[in-house]
Amino acid sequence: MGTMLAARYLGPNRIEPEEVELPEITDGWSLVEIEACGFCGSDINIVAGTHPRAKAPLTIGHELSGNIVKIAGDAHGLAIGDSVTCFPLITCGVCYACTHGNSQVCRQLKLYGFDAEGGMAQFVKLPTGSLLKLPKEMGAGIGALMEPLAVAVHGVNRVPLEGLEVAVVLGAGPIGLLTALVAQSRGIPHVLISDVQASRLELARELGLTPVAAGQALRDRVMELSNNNGADIVYECAGHPSTAKEMTVLARSRGIIINLSVFKKPAEVDLQQINFKEIEMFGSRCYERKDFETAIELAMKMPLEKIISDRMPLEEVSDAFKLFLTGEACKVLIVPHIKDARKHDANKNGASKNGHAAVERVQ
Ligand SMILES: [Zn+2]
Ligand SMILES: [Zn+2]
Repeated sequence: MGTMLAARYLGPNRIEPEEVELPEITDGWSLVEIEACGFCGSDINIVAGTHPRAKAPLTIGHELSGNIVKIAGDAHGLAIGDSVTCFPLITCGVCYACTHGNSQVCRQLKLYGFDAEGGMAQFVKLPTGSLLKLPKEMGAGIGALMEPLAVAVHGVNRVPLEGLEVAVVLGAGPIGLLTALVAQSRGIPHVLISDVQASRLELARELGLTPVAAGQALRDRVMELSNNNGADIVYECAGHPSTAKEMTVLARSRGIIINLSVFKKPAEVDLQQINFKEIEMFGSRCYERKDFETAIELAMKMPLEKIISDRMPLEEVSDAFKLFLTGEACKVLIVPHIKDARKHDANKNGASKNGHAAVERVQ
């Protein structure tokens, strides 16, 4: 037994490094030494004290990568030393969704980092069956992006893409950027991504995407590309009331809208347009295990390093969270064993404090 440092949610607006007991594992569980763990939009709700389930004290963190240091019982084909990420869903197995192959929308859906101790710590214990092996060649910290990348994969896989030519991604935060990368990798000829913030658009450009400023410029570009019809598919990844309105403007008749972001409260949607254009709209909440497997394959072909704006040590988790909250960072990673691994300078990709920039989605 010993202790370890963990990022603890200790009550509304309190996220602090704290010494806690090193987790002990029993049969079916593994101990993972954390390499990196990212902040997610949902962590904002937790720390604000507004998440419906997360209760203090709690070690947050569900976007993680690390190395297995201990396995108890069945190894599920894994071995000590393997680099892994975690499929963080905890499902009931008996509800309608679970018994119909859609446990990602389990009625009792729980996650590590929300309902059970998460991975923003030196170590985490997780069921061995929830771990996925990462390729040795994957760069440090990139494994922590497999969770948001799986969100994007799931969103893009919600509908068949055959024949779709013009796609629009609203919001260039991590989820929007990853969704655009996935849609582009799937061969949609025109994938536009928009945001209200110039620095986010610049990052999109660096990633090899096609950024367009939100508003009239985007509408014009979509009409130009689609013979004045509108976009075949719109991925809503901003979670802002303005994008809830814009998505029905941009979609063509019989077009598709996929909502990947989590709105903090109900937003106004133009149902007249949904009706007039016979638009189909789909929700996309999180992911299935197969989406993680696809994400891990895709990751090796994507410039994901650029999405990571900051790496900070666990000791500075309060400051790291503040930085994340300002919206001046893109993906902020906590890297427990690299005390001075900061990377403030490489990418200063901000999300805006207002407008529809990149509220990251939430489970
Ligand atoms: Zn997340
Ligand atoms: Zn269930």
